[in-house]
Amino acid sequence: MPGAFDVIVVGAGHNGLVAATMLARAGRRVLVLERRPIVGGAAVTEEFHPGFRGLPGASLVGLLRPEIVQDLGLVPRGLQFLPLDPEVASLGEDGQSLRLWRDPSRAAQELSARSPRDAAAYGAFRSLLVSVAGGADPPLAGPPPPGAVPLPAHGAPPRPGRLPHGPPPPARGGVAAHTRRAGRYHHRAWTAGAVAAGAAA
Ligand SMILES: Cc1cc2nc3c(=O)[nH]c(=O)nc-3n(C[C@H](O)[C@H](O)[C@H](O)COP(=O)(O)OP(=O)(O)OC[C@H]3O[C@@H](n4cnc5c(N)ncnc54)[C@H](O)[C@@H]3O)c2cc1C
Repeated sequence: MPGAFDVIVVGAGHNGLVAATMLARAGRRVLVLERRPIVGGAAVTEEFHPGFRGLPGASLVGLLRPEIVQDLGLVPRGLQFLPLDPEVASLGEDGQSLRLWRDPSRAAQELSARSPRDAAAYGAFRSLLVSVAGGADPPLAGPPPPGAVPLPAHGAPPRPGRLPHGPPPPARGGVAAHTRRAGRYHHRAWTAGAVAAGAAA
């Protein structure tokens, strides 16, 4: 079918679906190919065990930008965000659980039962995450940085372009938390295993 489509999007995760919708709105003829019987990628709700439904990946859908929700009119079409509290529930191999609540003081209170040291460190860790998120948001919202080029099919990867100017870079610890292997960072940062798992999540 030469010429039947202007664009073929491979994968109907939320990124593919948004791209396909925007392209179709711009008048392009778009074909979306999805290998699974359902669309949505990691942002679907599925029965992962008889009687239990949940999202396999994007439980918070934190990267679905508000301007996309607005542009596509998703709320009038039924999209609803349910605030999670606790934000994270970490199950330990010892049969115990740890919940990280939205209220940092409540979370620290629960942490103190497992590790007073981790409870004391939790406030600073939250602040670190907020600073990292603040630094990561502007590049996500903007166009690709100047000089960014598509990956070539063969050969050496291209030199990355510079990121546009945004807020100051996050503190050194924040960079370490997000560039080192997460398991190693969280293993060093926390004393209780369930805390490390919860903080990593
Ligand atoms: C364990 C885990 C936890 C996460 N938690 C969160 C979270 O809490 N909040 C959050 O915002 N994000 C979270 N993420 C990240 C989030 O899942 C991704 O950012 C998001 O799913 C990316 O969307 P996407 O559309 O690019 O890709 P995906 O959601 O991965 O969708 C890709 C689609 O392409 C299809 N596909 C792949 N290859 C082919 C092919 N060859 N042919 C046809 N179809 C194909 C797949 O079946 C899939 O449907 C998490 C990710 C993981 C792995």
